[in-house]
Amino acid sequence: MTDPLALNETHDARARSWLESANQLGCDFPIQNLPFAVFRRRGTAEEFRGGVAIGDQIIDLAALERSAMFDAEAALGIRSGALPSLNTLMQLGPNVHTAVRSALFESFLVGSRRQSILQSCLVAQGDAEYSIPAQIGDYTDFYSSIYHATAVGRMLRPEHPLPPNYEWVPIGYHGRSSSIGVTGQGFRRPSGQRLAAGADRPVVGPSRRMDYELELGVFIGNGNAQGVPIPIGDAEAHIFGLCLLNDWSARDLQAWESQPLGPFLAKNFATTISPWIITLEALAPYRVPFVRPASAPAPLPYLDSATNRDAGALDIQLEALIQSAAMSERNDPPHRLSSTTFRHAYWTIGQLVAHHTVNGCNLRAGDLLGTGTQSGPTPAEAGSLLELSVGGTRPIRIGASELRTFLEDGDLVILRAWCEKSGAARIGFGSAQGRLLPAVDSA
Ligand code: CA
Repeated sequence: MTDPLALNETHDARARSWLESANQLGCDFPIQNLPFAVFRRRGTAEEFRGGVAIGDQIIDLAALERSAMFDAEAALGIRSGALPSLNTLMQLGPNVHTAVRSALFESFLVGSRRQSILQSCLVAQGDAEYSIPAQIGDYTDFYSSIYHATAVGRMLRPEHPLPPNYEWVPIGYHGRSSSIGVTGQGFRRPSGQRLAAGADRPVVGPSRRMDYELELGVFIGNGNAQGVPIPIGDAEAHIFGLCLLNDWSARDLQAWESQPLGPFLAKNFATTISPWIITLEALAPYRVPFVRPASAPAPLPYLDSATNRDAGALDIQLEALIQSAAMSERNDPPHRLSSTTFRHAYWTIGQLVAHHTVNGCNLRAGDLLGTGTQSGPTPAEAGSLLELSVGGTRPIRIGASELRTFLEDGDLVILRAWCEKSGAARIGFGSAQGRLLPAVDSA
């Protein structure tokens, strides 16, 4: 079994590709990354198929399969990755994913004898459009940032901001997969019920408190049989990889409807993910210890392991940016709302999987978990406007002259993530971009 913690030749920061764009400083997709997506040439009726990013290009796995250049597990992985969704590849598990990564790494290294064939399998990212990378059977969203949970709780229950279960249970809810879209998604401002302050009855209409949530998505690889929990020691072998995820939220709908059963129409109208899935193997250099404050209780045994303590967390830099309609028209650059790192998460991705299945719930290949909004320890590191504007009471300035408490029609929100440190290759996630469009009845 592949060890997701182990570093190998594919992580060598000195490795260079014959594809020059992969060697550029600051490139999200160097030869050490090799993330997966589903794509086709934009504006064509081509079949969607799997691809792997390198530099400013995509390795077309369907074209690569036809070249019949690989054998054994790499061939199996490439054949599965050539399909219009990646569920089959995800299900095959880490040994096959490692074989594909290793074969592609070797093929793109300077001096590879396969260069001319690989060159014929490339599509420029600038010419591509993307699809959701897998058929997402089920989508679950967690709440794994204690800083986010505390800041939101403070607005609702100043005396006891953190729910009493928070330090024990990785809290989550089942979301909706039908409205998950890939970067470039535009969606209408949702309507629903809201209760105005001081009112004794709700009204229905377009949300007035639209927000984004800065999250990571976790795609499940091989699933588990119903009734058979995944122990924490195996949890990461069931994870295919990570993407960016924006859990758009209508705060006024949420405040009114969530009691007592949690998010429903405030969340299920749209969720935007980035097209590229970064494998756990690519993230291996960026593992860090999972640490808790001394005052916090130790996780229960099913959420604890030496490996999780030593290296269960991931140091992934996250940021959210906004570009209003006026900024877009003027070609002004997006304004950075905040940045933080995933290492602050209160639960690791392994703990999320172990908890999700402790009751025997079966996860399936292509299922998607959201980590929950990622906010850092200081207010400036918050992952939502709800926090940045303190519940809508303190407008924040964006760009040259605009103010925001919540999103306005035409706002584009851009999520980005990357990993970097000395001695390792910088790898990036690309971006998840989505735009809020006017409500149907006011369009
Ligand atoms: Ca969320």
